[in-house]
This record gives sequence, C-alpha cells and structure tokens, in this order.
Amino acid sequence: MQRLIIATGNPHKYREIKTLLEGLPLEVLSLSGLPHFAMPEEDQPTCAGNALKKARALRGMDAARNAVIMADDSGLEVASLGGLPGVHAARFAGPGADDGANNRLLLKRMEGLPPEKRKAAFRCAIALIFPDGEESLIEESCPGRIATAPRGCSGFGYDPLFIYEPTGLTFAEMGEAAKNRVSHRGRALRRARLTLKNWLA
Ligand code: IMP
Repeated sequence: MQRLIIATGNPHKYREIKTLLEGLPLEVLSLSGLPHFAMPEEDQPTCAGNALKKARALRGMDAARNAVIMADDSGLEVASLGGLPGVHAARFAGPGADDGANNRLLLKRMEGLPPEKRKAAFRCAIALIFPDGEESLIEESCPGRIATAPRGCSGFGYDPLFIYEPTGLTFAEMGEAAKNRVSHRGRALRRARLTLKNWLA
C-alpha cells in the first residue's frame, strides 16, 4: 500500500488528520518511525511557507523516499490585535509556552473588548509532496470569535476560546467530530483528501 507520512509532532493533529484520511488506500504514518528527523524551525512569515518547509525537510529523509509527504501549519488571527497570535500562535506567550499560557495571554490582551472586536480566524495550510516531487498546497480558514473565558475540554490549543458562531459553542465544546466538519484543518484536509484520491486513481 502507498505510504503517507505526516510531518507533525503534535499527536492531536496526527489523530485529526488520520481520521480525515480514513478510507483511502493509504498507510498513514506518523514521525515515530523516523526518530532521526529534526523538524525544521517554523520561521516563515506564512502558514503556507512553514507547511512547505516542513514537507520539503521530511522529503529529504531516506526513509521518506517513495512516500507521499503531508505537512500542515496553522495559526490564529485576531483582527483587533493586528493579526496576532498569527502564524507563530504556538509561541504567543514565549518560546516553549504551553496551551494554557497562550490562552491566558490571549484573554489578557483582549480583556474588555466587546463582541464585535473579538472576531478571529483560524488558518491552515497543507503541503503535499508526491513521490515524483510534485508539490501541492491547499489553504483554508474558519471564522469565529474569541470567548471571554475558556469553555469545553476536547481538542487542543486555542479550542476552548474559539467560538464557532453558527453553533455558539467553542471548538472544545463541540467535540472532535463536529469540529472537524467545519474547522480550518477539516476543510483543508477534505480538499487534500480529494487531491490524494485523484492521484491514487
Ligand atoms: P502549528 O500549526 O503547530 O504551528 O500551530 C500553531 C498554533 O495554533 C498552536 O498553538 C496550536 O495550538 C494552534 N492551533 C492550530 N490549530 C488549532 C486548532 O485546530 N485548534 C486550536 N488551536 C490550534
């Protein structure tokens, strides 16, 4: 079976991605079989640039030869903060910051802002590299609003703060399946899935 390796060290993302690729004739692998792979620094100014950088780095590994490579990069943009946390959302509260610290800082920076100033968007870029070297880039987003306090306990990252307006619930309250149906990554992955299905055919 054709192998597909996902260039992410984030187990939540790996699970989300694996679920959304179910049913395709692909052996979906994580980085656990490639202990010598060093994830490159995510220093590009866009999600697309970082996704491509990660995918290209993984493609350089001998063990990834003949596999399809997939890498994703995502970020959260809050308009009233000039687009922050942005593409470096994982490090919003400083290098090595955990989700709790990032969420607390986001709430602090937005303290007192009324609902109309709490608009936000998650963005996701997915890079695919096929065994012949062809590259494909997919970008999607999901609009929402930042809550005034964390709500819900599923998901990861900023999920407890991100309200998906049509439901009035945060991603963390919606649960994984409902989130995947509408999220930035879910939307991008459904397009990636179609690209992969056409390629496999
Ligand atoms: P990266 O794509 O791993 O660089 O993630 C960027 C930051 O955005 C991390 O802090 C993630 O926790 C956060 N993030 C990305 N996707 C999601 C999501 O679906 N829900 C919540 N936070 C996310």
